[in-house]
Amino acid sequence: MQEFDVVVVGGGPAGGQCARSLAKAGRQVLLVERHQTFAINSFSSAGTPLETMTQYDLPDSVVGAYWDKFVIVTSTKVGRWQAVNPQGTVLDFGKLREFLASEVRRYGSEVWMGCRYVSHATASDSTEVLLMQSQTPVRVRTKVLVDATGPFRAVIQARGQAEPDYLVGTGIEYLIEVEDAVYQQCADALTFFLGYKWMPKGYSWIFPMAAPQLKVGAALFKADHQYVKQMQPLKHYIHLLLQDYLNLTPDDYRLVEVHGATLKYCSGLQDVYYQGNTIAIGDAVSTVNMLGGEGIRHAMQGAEIASDYIQRYLAGQVASFQPYQAEMHRVFLKTWNLSEQLSKKRYLQDEDEILDKMVNYLQPLSLEDVVDILFYYRFDRLSKGLPQYLLRKLDAFWTRTGARLKKIWSTVFAKPGVE
Ligand SMILES: Cc1cc2nc3c(=O)[nH]c(=O)nc-3n(C[C@H](O)[C@H](O)[C@H](O)COP(=O)(O)OP(=O)(O)OC[C@H]3O[C@@H](n4cnc5c(N)ncnc54)[C@H](O)[C@@H]3O)c2cc1C
Repeated sequence: MQEFDVVVVGGGPAGGQCARSLAKAGRQVLLVERHQTFAINSFSSAGTPLETMTQYDLPDSVVGAYWDKFVIVTSTKVGRWQAVNPQGTVLDFGKLREFLASEVRRYGSEVWMGCRYVSHATASDSTEVLLMQSQTPVRVRTKVLVDATGPFRAVIQARGQAEPDYLVGTGIEYLIEVEDAVYQQCADALTFFLGYKWMPKGYSWIFPMAAPQLKVGAALFKADHQYVKQMQPLKHYIHLLLQDYLNLTPDDYRLVEVHGATLKYCSGLQDVYYQGNTIAIGDAVSTVNMLGGEGIRHAMQGAEIASDYIQRYLAGQVASFQPYQAEMHRVFLKTWNLSEQLSKKRYLQDEDEILDKMVNYLQPLSLEDVVDILFYYRFDRLSKGLPQYLLRKLDAFWTRTGARLKKIWSTVFAKPGVE
């Protein structure tokens, strides 16, 4: 039976980054992924701020496109922000995961594709893992087992055990090829669609990949909305973007691929983070931020924290992964709790009018400030828009009041016989 220091189950951003870090540190790692290739299940639209590239030393080859514009389209308004320099990238999700796996191999560890985790059993300080490779059962032994299976929580969540309270979001995305003129409409920009017209209970989006490809998607929260009682199937909202926003008929674009996935976020980060020598990372411990559905760099950040504690555990410096859970809560809990409240309010309670006010409010801010608020959750930046917002309100008030006074004046002092 083959033996490893660490077996990582799941080749997403969390599993790939965790295995990469540990392999780089000289540990013998096995990364297993149930799909045969990373081209399959390329479900993530993978928009991310620029920092992800430098922080995780990612090459240009995993980038689909850069963005320096941000657009919010609501039922009645459009807000646009532009920066001089790129603020982020849309990653090629398949290439990102392939790159991370190639790094694991480069550092001398193993990656088994088309290999599914089935079960494990722990005796003293080592664990026997049962995997299924092309219908063939394979057993390996490991000192640490990592659950990086995202929403499946396939390793850490025992079968049949009651699941905690999840906030569930589902997304579908079309990868399409379009004429250059259509592509240019959406080039260099993350475009989000909010509000009852485009996507009640969620949001939809158009992201650029390398020309001539666009990602067109829609995601919703699976919970009751305060006002919206009837929903169409998700694809309806994607077709709305194709027809009403891009003005495309089915003959005007080529559908390259349709993919989608479900996110399961545990309210209050009540996930199981570890059990003995088994540890969970990434979306398996709700690192995705439900406000924007952004999870790649947070999964990678959590994976870095985990690999640090796995190293310490293997070196005998810590006897349990409790400090890992404490560190994850220290890093994520406060901001994620606030984001959870805001996302429930935004996607399940707010009326359309509030969205329009939000766009008005954000409009005077720079794209850098908008990125700070929406990607770094620096909600204090919101106060920057307040002076301009109040000035505009005051201006509108005086315009309205002036018009009313004029009307009263002309009624009171109207010359008889003159309209
Ligand atoms: C429609 C959609 C759009 C999104 N857009 C963005 C975005 O624009 N930007 C962003 O940052 N985030 C986005 N996200 C979220 C982001 O993709 C996730 O948060 C991120 O992928 C989580 O990474 P992970 O490694 O924890 O889990 P995952 O990426 O889910 O990886 C889990 C892996 O485990 C494998 N696996 C599962 N079970 C087993 C098993 N039994 N054996 C072996 N392997 C197994 C799966 O095949 C998968 O590869 C989006 C998500 C969705 C659904």
